[in-house]
Amino acid sequence: MLEKTRQQIVEETVEFTEEFPLYRIILENVIFWFMVLLGALGFYQIRVQGFDYPIFTFIFLGYSLYMLLYHLRKKSCIHCYYYGKNCHLGWGKLASRFYSKGDPEEFMRDEASFQSYWDYWGTKAPIIAMVASLIFAFNYWMLTNLLFFVGLNFFMMKYFGKYVCIHCKMRGVCFFARRILGESIA
Ligand code: SF4
Repeated sequence: MLEKTRQQIVEETVEFTEEFPLYRIILENVIFWFMVLLGALGFYQIRVQGFDYPIFTFIFLGYSLYMLLYHLRKKSCIHCYYYGKNCHLGWGKLASRFYSKGDPEEFMRDEASFQSYWDYWGTKAPIIAMVASLIFAFNYWMLTNLLFFVGLNFFMMKYFGKYVCIHCKMRGVCFFARRILGESIA
């Protein structure tokens, strides 16, 4: 049997939200960027001996900005159905301002970059940094940061499952939706 192309899978997804409301876009972005900030602060106490600057915080922030504003947008948003439209994060419209339209067949083809950012650099690395900080120099500020970070991650996963992925036209070809909703999601 011939395998469906990504474009066919997307076209066959008939129940979806065409554009997401502005208040959802703003809310999601506020939470999302707040999480990036908490992740960056999680590296604050990790220092190179003899060098008194939070270098890992800057590295994490720089890497996150590169991945979130450029790399992942070029690997997904320019190829997405929502290119030029208000997707749940508004990034489809943003991407259309900076990058030219891509090819739906290329949408998230490079899943490894997504996985490595979301699973390791964006989530696990800050948690490891915060736990290490607490072990070596316990303080309530870092503990609060860790609890907020883990709590918001958990909340966002639930929120995506219930209010985002099942309403998204791209859910059949998105690794994130597949993970949250399971394999039979189109
Ligand atoms: S739905 Fe996802 S991939 Fe598509 S434009 Fe929005 S953020 Fe980008």
